[in-house]
Amino acid sequence: AEEAVRNDELVYKYDSHKHEARWEISLLTQLDRAIDNGEVWVAYQPKLDVASNRVTGAEALVRWTHPERGPISPDKFIRIAEEFHRIERITRFVVNDAVRAAVELRRQGLELSMSVNISAQLLRNPGLPGMILEILAVHGLEPEKLTLEITETDRLDRSSRTFQMLQKLVQAGLRLSIDDFGTGNATIDYLRYLPATEVKIDKVFVQAMEANKEDLLLVQSIVEMAHSQDRTVVAEGVETLAALEILKGMNCDTIQGYYVCRPVPFRDLLAEIKEREARRTG
Ligand code: C2E
Ligand code: MG
Ligand code: MG
Ligand code: MG
Repeated sequence: AEEAVRNDELVYKYDSHKHEARWEISLLTQLDRAIDNGEVWVAYQPKLDVASNRVTGAEALVRWTHPERGPISPDKFIRIAEEFHRIERITRFVVNDAVRAAVELRRQGLELSMSVNISAQLLRNPGLPGMILEILAVHGLEPEKLTLEITETDRLDRSSRTFQMLQKLVQAGLRLSIDDFGTGNATIDYLRYLPATEVKIDKVFVQAMEANKEDLLLVQSIVEMAHSQDRTVVAEGVETLAALEILKGMNCDTIQGYYVCRPVPFRDLLAEIKEREARRTG
């Protein structure tokens, strides 16, 4: 009987793997179509400057609203896109939308810095700088207005191709941000070598710090370390006023999170910023 149970388990596990693989392949074939027919779109989340209480930037976050399955998390389909060589296409789509958004904001009198996420995998693609600079040129936006948020899990050293690619991007004027700082295993290398102007503290620490002294001290030391290297600090995942107050007390420069605003369609971002500006000037 015991044997039978174990067999059942195996069959079950095998089936669920098969199911998972099939589901990934079906996602992949649908992803190509989804980009063309508007199921894939870009949401924007404001970044709030703590000292001035003003929105000074926004992060572009890709979204896929599947007609039957509903929203599919980018954590899921970005991984599939990376595995099956679709990441360049998605990134081109997102960067193009984000740059257009920044130009439109400027047209409305709002000067924001725009951030996009760049997969570690793309940092090994020699076509990346050309692709980004071309999009900027087409829309007439200065490279200094675009920040690339980088998360890397591999180690980084000065001789690596990734490092050389990042150097090239910085020389062209683009800004770099170290995303999800504190998680993964490459973060100290990144602080040592990366010409980044910004560090984003991972939301796991930001969310734990209200209840946990160790996390609070960790966030505090990340802020101090980044400042000692002349980098701007962004706290992501700020969901409460209490978290905001703590971060303010630590001299954290910028916050991002549901407490300020969720990632929203571009027109809602525009409305949110205008509303805040109207309240400021009374
Ligand atoms: P990320 O770049 O670290 O983005 C932050 C994530 O935290 C986003 O999840 C955002 O919606 C979420 N978030 C923001 N504020 C809060 C908060 O107060 N509480 C909580 N619990 N979450 C908050 P999202 O949009 O699901 O994206 C997940 C990840 O997918 C991103 O993490 C990024 O690594 C990746 N991603 C998203 N868009 C793109 C893209 O266009 N290209 C690439 N390569 N990756 C992307
Ligand atoms: Mg990010
Ligand atoms: Mg992050
Ligand atoms: Mg992340």
